Amino acid sequence: MEKLLIATKNEGKVRDFKELFSKYGMEIISLLDLDETIPEIEETGTTFEENARIKAETIVERFQLPVLADDSGLEIDALGGRPGVYSARYAGEAKNDQANLEKVLEEMEGVPADNRSARFVCVLAVARPGEATYTVRGTCEGSIATAPAGENGFGYDPVFYPKGTDKTMAQLTAKEKNSISHRKNALVQLEKWVGKL
Ligand code: IMP
Repeated sequence: MEKLLIATKNEGKVRDFKELFSKYGMEIISLLDLDETIPEIEETGTTFEENARIKAETIVERFQLPVLADDSGLEIDALGGRPGVYSARYAGEAKNDQANLEKVLEEMEGVPADNRSARFVCVLAVARPGEATYTVRGTCEGSIATAPAGENGFGYDPVFYPKGTDKTMAQLTAKEKNSISHRKNALVQLEKWVGKL
């Protein structure tokens, strides 16, 4: 059975990937299943693709197994695409979700409703020993709220209205979010590719 190592310690992400790959008879393991401690990989890229590749290729090199890695964030058009690849650390190295979304709201103060478009982006990279790395991109289009609302989810969910809803991402249930999210859409792209294997 082919093994695929998911380059994450996030149990929620591992669960999603296990579900996706189960029908292909692949054995899914994650960094949580490995005894070794992996030092944090520096995300030095300027695009989501570069960062997902860096993570996937660092881990494939070390374990010589097929690897899947992801990188995600929020792009706001009125801010020239920021916070983008800097989403996790937008308000500083401490990776503070609340400080990050307050910074975004401050920068978006006074920006009219028709210029508040934004999207969540998720890039998945698959790396195999000795082979070229493959990436897919999923997005979720929407707009930036003027004040936070909702308790669910994480990160920028309270200030993001997915297109076609009057609720923020943080006011949706996990199931509702997972049916429209950038992560889900990237998985759909990846599934097309897995199907071709
Ligand atoms: P990472 O891909 O787990 O490193 O996430 C990067 C950062 O993007 C997170 O820390 C969040 O700030 C933001 N982000 C990524 N996905 C989501 C999401 O689904 N909801 C809200 N924020 C997100």
